[in-house]
Amino acid sequence: MSTPGRDVHAHLRRLLGDALLADEPLRHHTTFQIGGPADFFVAPKTPELLVAALRAAHECALPVHLIGGGSNLLVSDDGLRGLVVRNDCGAVEFEGTVAHVGCGAEYLEFILRCRARGLAGLAYAAGIPGSVGGAICGNAGCYGQDLGARVLECAVATLDGARVETLPASWFAFAYRDSRLKREPRVLLSATLRLEAGEPAAIQREIDERLEIRRVKHPQWRTEPTAGSYFKNLPLGFQVPGLPHSPGTHRIPAGALLDACDCRALRVGDAAVFAKHANILVNAGHATARDMLALAGEMKRRVRARFGVELEEEVLFLGVRPEPAGAAPGAD
Ligand SMILES: Cc1cc2nc3c(=O)[nH]c(=O)nc-3n(C[C@H](O)[C@H](O)[C@H](O)COP(=O)(O)OP(=O)(O)OC[C@H]3O[C@@H](n4cnc5c(N)ncnc54)[C@H](O)[C@@H]3O)c2cc1C
Repeated sequence: MSTPGRDVHAHLRRLLGDALLADEPLRHHTTFQIGGPADFFVAPKTPELLVAALRAAHECALPVHLIGGGSNLLVSDDGLRGLVVRNDCGAVEFEGTVAHVGCGAEYLEFILRCRARGLAGLAYAAGIPGSVGGAICGNAGCYGQDLGARVLECAVATLDGARVETLPASWFAFAYRDSRLKREPRVLLSATLRLEAGEPAAIQREIDERLEIRRVKHPQWRTEPTAGSYFKNLPLGFQVPGLPHSPGTHRIPAGALLDACDCRALRVGDAAVFAKHANILVNAGHATARDMLALAGEMKRRVRARFGVELEEEVLFLGVRPEPAGAAPGAD
């Protein structure tokens, strides 16, 4: 699709006002700090404004891309055509042990608000970056637990903003790092989650423990740009003699296969494998999406050649994929 003309820009500005940004660099909105410009960008703070943005894009025949914290995304160097909507709707209300949370709420901030109310059940996830909406879309989790298990229902809008409805948890078909939203996109406005009563000091202790484990084992994404685990762990039942399973999940971690293939020394341009974890890729300077794809491609190739298994990306690619450059990446 070509770049939209001035009249589309003017019309969209009339509909959305000064909140509308044009040619907004998406590297400012992803934890990889990679991504070319979005034709148009808005970050609505209420569900009403968000739905208005969806309707405006529809009226201007522009494709819509939804993002939260951008912590599970690799965005094309060419950016994205159409309107990128970052969900900034983060209002939270509690009703006993049930929370109603705007899907733009930062996940850690929400976990801390639950702790303050004496509500337990999410402390294990402290340190997963991004928004509640992104975590529901990808059913984010760790240590064998995931957010989908806490969802009772969600308010969602259709991508054209024409309809808002409430969908029960069963609609989402939550599975390991997966939900139906990945195949049938809807815009998550708010979620109703089931928590349980807990003691704030004990919840805080668990939060502190989880944050400390991540501080030691993971890159600090604000200063070492990353999107966390690049590949999903292996399907249930896949066995490799001598390789361990992840705690709580009964899956062989992708990192174990990548280590067996000597992937930690790999680098393409400024796209590098994190020194402490073979399944975490980092932007070590000015990496491009093309670099990152070439590095990930080489890692997949090695695992395929050695184990006959195809690693599946956990990080989602947005935009048009570049043609492979053809040059074989080298190990630095
Ligand atoms: C250091 C680090 C550690 C990480 N650790 C973990 C971990 O332990 N476990 C784990 O599961 N993940 C982990 N991640 C990955 C990532 O943080 C999670 O997947 C997170 O839940 C993504 O949320 P987000 O708001 O950033 O989503 P984004 O990356 O912005 O978007 C991801 C997907 O969700 C969709 N989406 C976002 N918001 C909405 C919405 N409101 N409605 C509909 N769709 C929406 C987007 O369209 C996109 O398809 C880690 C990432 C980093 C950088």
